[in-house]
Amino acid sequence: MKQVAVIGGGVVGLSCALALQDDGHQVTIVDPGPVGFGASAASCGCIAVGEIVPLSQPGMLAKVPGWLINPEAPLALRPSTALYMLPWFVKFAVNARAKTMRSIAADLASLTFQATQDFKDQMARYGIRDMLIERPIIKLFDNDADKALMGAAFGLARELGCIIDEISGAEAHEIDPSIAADFQHAAVLRDWSFVADCVRLVKDLNLVFLKRGGSVINSAARSFEINDRKCTAAILENADRLIADEFILAAGTASKALSKALGVPLPVEGLAGYWTGLGDPGVDLKHTVFYPAGGFGITPHENTLAVAGTIEFAGLNAAPNWRRADVLVERAKRVLPGLQTATSERRIGQRPFVPDTRPVIGRSDKLSNVVFATGHGQLGLTLGSTTGRLVSDIITGRNGGNDLQAFSPDRF
Ligand SMILES: Cc1cc2nc3c(=O)[nH]c(=O)nc-3n(C[C@H](O)[C@H](O)[C@H](O)COP(=O)(O)OP(=O)(O)OC[C@H]3O[C@@H](n4cnc5c(N)ncnc54)[C@H](O)[C@@H]3O)c2cc1C
Repeated sequence: MKQVAVIGGGVVGLSCALALQDDGHQVTIVDPGPVGFGASAASCGCIAVGEIVPLSQPGMLAKVPGWLINPEAPLALRPSTALYMLPWFVKFAVNARAKTMRSIAADLASLTFQATQDFKDQMARYGIRDMLIERPIIKLFDNDADKALMGAAFGLARELGCIIDEISGAEAHEIDPSIAADFQHAAVLRDWSFVADCVRLVKDLNLVFLKRGGSVINSAARSFEINDRKCTAAILENADRLIADEFILAAGTASKALSKALGVPLPVEGLAGYWTGLGDPGVDLKHTVFYPAGGFGITPHENTLAVAGTIEFAGLNAAPNWRRADVLVERAKRVLPGLQTATSERRIGQRPFVPDTRPVIGRSDKLSNVVFATGHGQLGLTLGSTTGRLVSDIITGRNGGNDLQAFSPDRF
C-alpha cells in the first residue's frame, strides 16, 4: 500500500483517486475547490468516443485574422492575448499535417474506444446510478457546404472504426421532433453517449472517495520539494508540506504552472468554452445535438438543457466574455425552434489543451514517483475513468496492456 497525493480533484483527479483506492492505496486529494466546478462543469457532457480528429486542421493559420476580428465566432482569439498565445499556437498548427493528424487520431482512438466500458464499470463499481445515457448524438448541417467541412474528419474517424450514419435533416427531425425540420443533412454518431449531469458526476465521485476513507485538503499546491529525481513533498498554499510516496498531477489548466514547478514543463493552455443551463427549455430533446456551424452542442441533462461549446483562445486567466455564451443561446433557436431561453446559469470552462491534442498520461524520466494525468483537452469527461485505470496500473506496477508512449510527458 502506498500513500498517494493527487493534485487536482476534477473528473480526472477523482477518477485516478478512486482507481488507486480500488488497488488498496491510501489517497489524499489536494484541491482549492469547490468540487465539481472545474472544466467539466462547462462540458457538453458527452462520452465522445469519436472525437478523435485533432482540433488543429489544415489551413487554420489563414483563418486566424478572422478569429481576431469576430469575438462572437465559434472560434475566436482575444486580441489582448494573441502575442502570448503565439508560441503555443505555432506548435498547435504544426500538428495539422495529414500524417500527424492521422497518428494523433489513432492514438486518441486507442483510448476513447475503451472509454464507454471504463465509464460503465466505474459507475457500477461505485453505485452511481442513472448517469450514462446511452443514446447516440446527432450532428446537424444547414447545407452541402457545411457537411463537406466535416467530410475529412468523418472519413478519418470511420477509417479508425467510428460508426457514423449519414441521414437527411428530415430524418433527424423524425428521430427527435424538437429539432428543426429544415436542416439539409445530419449524421448520427452511434458510439457516443452522454451523462445525466456533469456536476453531479464529479460530486458523486467525490462522495464515494470520502466514504471509502479518502481525504481532501482544501488548498492549492504551489510548489514541490525534489531530491534526487524524487518528489518528497508538495508545498500547499496554506504552507503545509504534503508528504507522499507517489504524486499524481491532475490539476487541469493549473498543470501548466505545477508541471514547471516539478521540472517537467508541459505546454498546457486553457481553451475556453461557455455553458448555459436552461431550466425550463420548453422542448423535450432526447439526444445531444451538435451544430458545427455554430460550434456548440445542446445536451438534455437531468435537470437542465445545456447549450455549450465554442473555443476561445483567451489565455489562462482571462475574464469571461459572457456575450459568447449569450450568442450560443440565441443560435440554439436555429436548432430547436421551440426553445425557451430564460437562462438559469452560465459557466465558463478552460479545457486543458496541449498542442498535439493527446492527453498526458504517464511518468517522466526526470521523476521516479510522479504520474502526470492532464491535458485532456475536449476529452476529459470521456477519458476520466480510463485515465484513472491507467494511472493506477502505473502506480501498482501492473501491465494493463496499453502502450502509453504517445502520451508521455517527455514528448514535448
Ligand atoms: C464547453 C466545453 C465542452 C466540453 N465538452 C466535453 C465533452 O462533451 N466531453 C468531454 O469528454 N469533455 C468535454 N470538455 C472537456 C472537459 O470538460 C475537460 O477535459 C475536463 O473537465 C478536464 O478535467 P480535469 O479533471 O483534467 O480538469 P478540471 O475539471 O478543470 O479539474 C482540475 C481541478 O484542479 C483543481 N486545481 C486547480 N489549481 C490547483 C492547484 N494549484 N492545486 C490543486 N488543485 C488545483 C481545480 O480546482 C479543479 O478542481 C468540454 C469542455 C468545455 C469547456
